[in-house]
Amino acid sequence: MNTYDAIIVGAGYAGSVAARALAEKGKKVLILEQRPHIGGNAYDERDEYGVLIHTYGPHIFHTSSEKAYRFLTRFTHFNDYHHEVLANVHGTMIPVPFNLNSLAIAFPAEKAARLREKLISQYGMGSRVPILKLRESADPELQELAEYVYENIFLHYTAKQWEQKPEEVDPSVTARVPVVVSEENGYFQDPWQGMPEGGYTEMFEKMLDHENIDVRLGTPAKDVLQFADGKVLVRDDAAGELQDYDGLVIYTGEIDALFDYVHGALPYRSLRFAFEHYEEDSFQEAAVVNYTVSEDYTRISEFKKFADPAGQGTTIVKEYPQKHQKGLIPYYAILNDENRALYQQYKAIADRYPKLYLLGRLAEYQYYNMDAITARALELVEEIG
Ligand code: FAD
Ligand code: UDP
Repeated sequence: MNTYDAIIVGAGYAGSVAARALAEKGKKVLILEQRPHIGGNAYDERDEYGVLIHTYGPHIFHTSSEKAYRFLTRFTHFNDYHHEVLANVHGTMIPVPFNLNSLAIAFPAEKAARLREKLISQYGMGSRVPILKLRESADPELQELAEYVYENIFLHYTAKQWEQKPEEVDPSVTARVPVVVSEENGYFQDPWQGMPEGGYTEMFEKMLDHENIDVRLGTPAKDVLQFADGKVLVRDDAAGELQDYDGLVIYTGEIDALFDYVHGALPYRSLRFAFEHYEEDSFQEAAVVNYTVSEDYTRISEFKKFADPAGQGTTIVKEYPQKHQKGLIPYYAILNDENRALYQQYKAIADRYPKLYLLGRLAEYQYYNMDAITARALELVEEIG
């Protein structure tokens, strides 16, 4: 074990990008991954009908980070898929984020024209206005618009996703889907977006294909690593003897689990995915349809519409949010002051280990898109490697 310069826990974006960057600096790296596959939550695979599905929910790549884009395009080519989402509002399909096209669908022509002018003069063409900010507008008509969007796009979807009102969740969360003063229907505004040709898993396979990287699948960190009194101990197999380890450790799993939940469990939201297959060419109008006023699921994604047309019929997935509990996958950190304070208690324990680095959605207890965690992993390796 001490022949490895670094042991990385987790083979998702955080762990895989860090591993490759360290390997290219000549470091020998071992990755421990508890799942039977690489790629973390971005893992994709072909189902029995040959359709490329995203096992842990729909992942669409988009970025303004040249650093992340350049790095990832060494291992894949992103196609020109442009992500657009529709909301099903009582059977009417409205583009989301709510924009000037949505306005024209949701309101009678004369009113829509007036609201359009008000939005443009108040906020400027091309601006992105978080719903909570639009609700503060002094103009009664803009307030009415804000109430419409709040009620029909945010309130019920957010209740399903978080069991909270939009104003109760961290403002950064709802700000990801602002009201957009534009006629562009895209879900993201980043200059680079697309889906990896051949899929995410293939991209990860290429990233991890390096002589300095070994990957052990089906291996929870605890089988190999122990943390006690500021010292890291390792063993080769479950029966092996513990030895001191003085290399780097990059941990991308749940930080509360790492320290045996001594301060209690960090709260998360989880999801249940229900996959369905249909012997039809098309199930719905867009790759993703959000159910913002009805149903128990938040959205339906239809994989073939992500620009990989292979496979027979069409496969969809419905996302049912649920409370997180032991045995489920923690998908979303619930960001608020209390939970951040609890996180800091775990961080304080981690800080006692000088060569332990926390990286990623779970270890840092924060929201990261794929590009953001890629850029962060590269930065971390520049800092420490
Ligand atoms: P993960 O992908 O969670 O990887 C962590 C890995 O560590 C996992 O493989 C896990 O099994 C392993 N692990 C954990 N603990 C241990 C342990 N003790 N021992 C061994 N292994 C362990 N981002 C976008 O940019 N665009 C999108 O469209 C998008 N859609 C999303 C949709 C959903 C439903 C979700 C939940 C997320 C989405 N994301 C999206 C975010 C994206 O999933 C994350 O940016 C990415 O997964 C973060 O990578 P990570 O390595 O931090 O975490
Ligand atoms: N949201 C909503 N209605 C929508 C889309 C998003 O209320 O039609 C809110 C909801 O609270 C969600 C948040 O905005 O959790 C962020 O949405 P995003 O699509 O970024 O969520 P993710 O893809 O990360 O699940």
